Amino acid sequence: MAAKLRKREEIPAQYKWDLSHIYPDDAAWEAALADVLASGKKFAAWEGKVAENPRQAIREYFDLNQQAEPVFSYAFLRGETDNGDPVAQGLRARASQMGVQLSTAMSFFEPELLSLDDALLAEIAADPAMADYDAFLRNLIRQKPHTLPAEQEKLLAMMGQVAQAPNHIFGMLTDVDMSFPPVQMPDGTTAELTEGTYSQFIRSEDREVRKSAFDGIMNTYGSFGSTIAATYNGSVQNDVFQARARHYATARDARMEPLEIPTSVYDNLISEVHAAIPVLNEYLALRKALMGLDELHMYDLYTPMVKDFHMELSYDKAFDLVLEGLKPMGEDYLAKLREARVGGWIDVYPSKGKSSGAFSSGNLRDVHPYVLLNHNDNLSDTFTIAHELGHSMHSFYSNTNQPAPKSDYSLFVAEVASTCNEATMIRHLLKTFADDKKALAYLLNHFLEQFRTTVFRQTMFAEFELIAHTMAEQGQPLTRESLSKAYYELNQKYYGAVCTVDENIANEWMRIPHFYRSYYVYVYATGLCAAVSLSDKILSEGESAVRDYRKFLSAGCAVPPIDALKLAGIDMSSPEPIRRALGVFKDTLAQFKAVIMA
Ligand SMILES: [Zn+2]
Repeated sequence: MAAKLRKREEIPAQYKWDLSHIYPDDAAWEAALADVLASGKKFAAWEGKVAENPRQAIREYFDLNQQAEPVFSYAFLRGETDNGDPVAQGLRARASQMGVQLSTAMSFFEPELLSLDDALLAEIAADPAMADYDAFLRNLIRQKPHTLPAEQEKLLAMMGQVAQAPNHIFGMLTDVDMSFPPVQMPDGTTAELTEGTYSQFIRSEDREVRKSAFDGIMNTYGSFGSTIAATYNGSVQNDVFQARARHYATARDARMEPLEIPTSVYDNLISEVHAAIPVLNEYLALRKALMGLDELHMYDLYTPMVKDFHMELSYDKAFDLVLEGLKPMGEDYLAKLREARVGGWIDVYPSKGKSSGAFSSGNLRDVHPYVLLNHNDNLSDTFTIAHELGHSMHSFYSNTNQPAPKSDYSLFVAEVASTCNEATMIRHLLKTFADDKKALAYLLNHFLEQFRTTVFRQTMFAEFELIAHTMAEQGQPLTRESLSKAYYELNQKYYGAVCTVDENIANEWMRIPHFYRSYYVYVYATGLCAAVSLSDKILSEGESAVRDYRKFLSAGCAVPPIDALKLAGIDMSSPEPIRRALGVFKDTLAQFKAVIMA
């Protein structure tokens, strides 16, 4: 049983973030909210007049967004630490109301800008006086051929609610209506099985427990298989419809082109991961041997291979370890981390009413990033500190080096800086703990599992999505049978050489909520590969690689994400970084074997 949750006021101030850096109190927030609403009204006067002075309209549009940001962030962050506080929830509700008001008041802006002449837009984008807005204009111009006449855009917008239906149906079915059979525990009792508790049961050292949980989950989804297939079909058909309506060749292009990611990135990922399946199998064979199993089943993949390891890491010790592990990132990076530690950036401990999980919020250019943690005294949560501060540092460097319209980094690189910190820290700590066999085995196991679940598993998901969308685009029916067959064959391809691929794994695609946000999961795999390649460069090349990495962190969205990574010497349009990262996987496996056999 976990220790009783503390009340927020029982936690010393040094372990809480300080929101007074944004506004001294709620009254100041109220005043700022009123100012934003007034500015919104003023901006609405541009309606129908953007063509008269587009340069000025663009400036005022971004100024208004900038002005609104702290009002949103303060209300959001204030609510995160006590979800039961009615005052905080009131602030949040009013901030979101403000958001609706603003987006309604500003909705004419982009269509009016898009209706300007191509030549004029290009001229504004090239105007040195408008350099702060060139990335925004570059995107706008690229979007133009995919923007429809106003009447048709209106129709598409009216379809918005309908388009969301498959996602809502999936959520209702799986979060509300569906329930799972209880799991039989070794002591004869039963335990409740939910999507939440499944992740613990599937890691259980008791094979009956994990098998019972696995069957309970997979068979229950299977019993709703036709409904879920019809729901997913609706989602895929909508993707195909939206893509065709907007003149994209495929649904994948419609997702990747706006992010300026060539589809070769996706194809390279799949082919390089395929080439590394033999290494995955070598890893699985080792797992099978270490677990002493005759057959490795799909429910045997998540149990930790290293037992009896626990490192007691209070937050202060954990932070020291993060600073030690991130030494390769350079002195000014470390200095900023020390500042974050004492500067009111971080909310450390769980407390009553606080949101679970962890995140970094980096939108406040004029203040600093804020980090929410729920620290427990262990190594896994120590990596979370490094991960979230990776996000914060990415925001910090982009915010300080780019003007506001170019400071937000792209979704494609969103997990690069965070996982680069984790990879760097793990590999550096291997040296720190060179004499501690248990610690080494734990770290290596952690890293290997990260590869399996993030690179191999997410790439398999990406492949599944591509198959489903291609089938729909070719007019083939998406049914329970066709989808489950495709998913089962993928599992055979990835795991079949070593694992017994249980039949009910064919239902697993049915429980993945990410599939309702299509062509997104590949970013996890490419992000980890880019991060591991970067950390490999930093660790092997030192200072010059650190300097280049800083350029990437500082780039925001000033250049397309592929070019931002090129600044750090990583070319994601080639297979090389994927290959390099999978090479690190191979080396890590060899190291793990050496430690285990020693
Ligand atoms: Zn993250």
